[in-house]
Amino acid sequence: MKFNDSLKDMKIYEAGKPIELVVREFGIAPEDVVKLASNENPKGCSPLVAKEIANNAHKAYLYPDDSFYELKDRLSSRFDVKDENIIIGAGSDQVLEFISRALLSSSDSVLMSRVTFAMYEIYAKQQGAKIIRTASYEHRVDEFIEAYQEHKPKIIYLCTPNNPTGDGTTKEDVFRIIDAVDSDTLVVIDGAYMEYAKAKDRAYEIKPTDILDRENVIYLGTFSKAYGLGGMRVGYGIANKELIKELYKMRPPFNITTLSLVSAIKACEDEEFVNESIVLHSQEIKRYEEFAKEIGFEYIDSYTNFITYLFPDNMNSTEISDALFKEGVIIRNLASYGMNAIRVTIGTAKQNDRFFEMFRKVVA
Ligand SMILES: *Cc1c(COP(=O)(O)O)cnc(C)c1O
Repeated sequence: MKFNDSLKDMKIYEAGKPIELVVREFGIAPEDVVKLASNENPKGCSPLVAKEIANNAHKAYLYPDDSFYELKDRLSSRFDVKDENIIIGAGSDQVLEFISRALLSSSDSVLMSRVTFAMYEIYAKQQGAKIIRTASYEHRVDEFIEAYQEHKPKIIYLCTPNNPTGDGTTKEDVFRIIDAVDSDTLVVIDGAYMEYAKAKDRAYEIKPTDILDRENVIYLGTFSKAYGLGGMRVGYGIANKELIKELYKMRPPFNITTLSLVSAIKACEDEEFVNESIVLHSQEIKRYEEFAKEIGFEYIDSYTNFITYLFPDNMNSTEISDALFKEGVIIRNLASYGMNAIRVTIGTAKQNDRFFEMFRKVVA
């Protein structure tokens, strides 16, 4: 059987390793496994949300309200936009997929930074599009504009703050790129970690209302990170209504589940939980910065809920990740991104203690 040519050199997305795998492979008790690999919220989800899911469990037989009326209503109040500006996806991942399918064919290219969210490439390649990357891992305005002028890509992905490096791009720089691009190119602002960035420095905050008057810009957000609902798969895209109308043509009916919908609506009522999560995070990330200084390697200043450690040549990220894994500490090795680095999700104080302890043991 002959599959699409574009699949030939395509890699499968490498998800963070699950706790179950460590339990199975090394016989470590599940409670001793520390998973700091997928940028989940270490506080879990809001207790109000957990209760709401339990209370609605009997509705599992019902399809959800396919208009997502209530959830859009909450989001439109939070972001000061209209229902018609919002599309809901099974994670913002699904919105990325809609965007790709709505815009790309094999004669198109897409532009992104050298090290960024792996799904941009995968969705683009599914459409046969060509991938262009800038030279730096961070989003450099001059590199983006130069590559844009040379290749005229159909889509530019701006992941800010960026995963898996954690660095942010200021609103000013994002708009310098947007302003340099004409309306045939869609600019995607992936704000999966925006809640963390805006808490750290307002200059890095991009609001959906900032881009609503642009015909060729879309903002993406998710409930998977700060809201602690990675397992429920709910994300959204916000843009002008014409763009949203086109993306809607890609959407299958009932694309999030009845219980996902219930959980996201409830999560919008508990902003306190998100604030507490961010407070915990900002305390704990300082310990990671101190730790790097103490051991003697570099880290990237983080605007997200994870930190990227950059190793010198005498430390190997693959060896360190494998050794940590055997101790039941799951983190993300960035070797496959061409970096001698690891990405560690900031956990609870206890999880972080365990990480520091095992890291010392492994490098000793
Ligand atoms: C986690 C993440 C997403 C989306 O996650 P979903 O769970 O699909 O909403 C999108 N972009 C980046 C950069 C992410 O890290």
